[in-house]
Amino acid sequence: VSLFVPGETREHEKRVALVPSVATKLAKLGIECSLQPGAGLAARIPDNAFEKEGVQITASPTNAQLIFRVQPPELSDIEQMAPGTVLCCFVYAHREPEIVKALRDRQITCFAMELVPRITRAQAMDALSSQAALTGYAAGLMAATSLNRILPMMTTAVGSLRPAKVLVMGAGVAGLQALATAKRLGAMIEGYDVRAEVKEQVESVGGKFVDTGVSASGEGGYARELTDEEKAQVEKVVTRHIQQADAVITTAAIPGRPSPKIISEAQIMGMKPGSVIIDLAAEGGGNTPLTVPGETVEVGPATIVAPLNVPSRLAEHASELYARNLQNLVGLMIKDGELAIDWEDEILAGAVLTHAGEIRNEAARKAIE
Ligand code: NAD
Repeated sequence: VSLFVPGETREHEKRVALVPSVATKLAKLGIECSLQPGAGLAARIPDNAFEKEGVQITASPTNAQLIFRVQPPELSDIEQMAPGTVLCCFVYAHREPEIVKALRDRQITCFAMELVPRITRAQAMDALSSQAALTGYAAGLMAATSLNRILPMMTTAVGSLRPAKVLVMGAGVAGLQALATAKRLGAMIEGYDVRAEVKEQVESVGGKFVDTGVSASGEGGYARELTDEEKAQVEKVVTRHIQQADAVITTAAIPGRPSPKIISEAQIMGMKPGSVIIDLAAEGGGNTPLTVPGETVEVGPATIVAPLNVPSRLAEHASELYARNLQNLVGLMIKDGELAIDWEDEILAGAVLTHAGEIRNEAARKAIE
């Protein structure tokens, strides 16, 4: 099976979809890897590091059956692909209707990494989680460097400084890493989430869970709608914690939908002077109404930092984890050294976006066709 990994074409993307150690693993599956010259340079991985692992460096692959990318291809790339090619990359179909239509019309079998089902068996293929973990770590550091004070307690000849308080709102994959990082830097950490079951996870990284006294857990594990009284109660408690925080890291993103506004303008105006918000939901518009995606803005007493594509800043490790996710996904498609896609496999059936001239994902089909 032949694999080609092109260089990324989207602006500000430093990751690459293959790293040398993964090429070695793929070779064992019977996959011959080729890479566009310089594709790893933005992640500081030179061509010769790939060549040492048997990767061919070639500008024009001849009939690659498999293509790995981080970001979606350009229309001109799709024209170059042979019908039936298997492509694995992030797509976010709702943002890329023209690309999705072109993949459909070109009969590309495209697996969208953001569609990999979030089930236990798929954890090793879950690129959203691997990238979110790095994003959370980076957010902890950004909180530290954006403040005009330090995170840890420090005792000096002229007395001691109190540790900073870091509040993380949304204690999922990114949030827990943000908490752990801020903790290692000496901050006092608190985690809040609408899912009360994350309390233990927040505590396991040394944090305090913000207990609003209201549980949104409903039947079958789904969150239920809160009453107005309960909403007011939650807001009162959360507001108090926001006001006491030096840094707030927000991570509430809903894939394919605008980010929910979980901090209001009034709450921001009530924050401590010099406080910062690291808004990790900037891609979807941000978790506050005053967020400017991609920028750092000062609003009232606070500074809102809203970085885009955070994993790209940690391109080496982000590429490494992402490439391992791809390796595991492709592992499901290879039988006896040949590409053989089992459409009964719920991971492959869940992750496929286009195949055989159709948009196979229902939400994407509804949004695009
Ligand atoms: P995410 O990025 O979609 O959301 C981040 C967090 O924000 C979540 O914990 C969510 O509950 C929280 N959130 C949403 N709206 C909020 C609001 N209004 N206020 C406060 N918090 C809000 O989620 P994620 O981090 O990708 O994943 C969430 C969880 O799913 C993980 O912690 C994990 O337990 C589970 N998960 C399981 C698997 C698997 O089994 N394969 C894979 C990934 C994630």
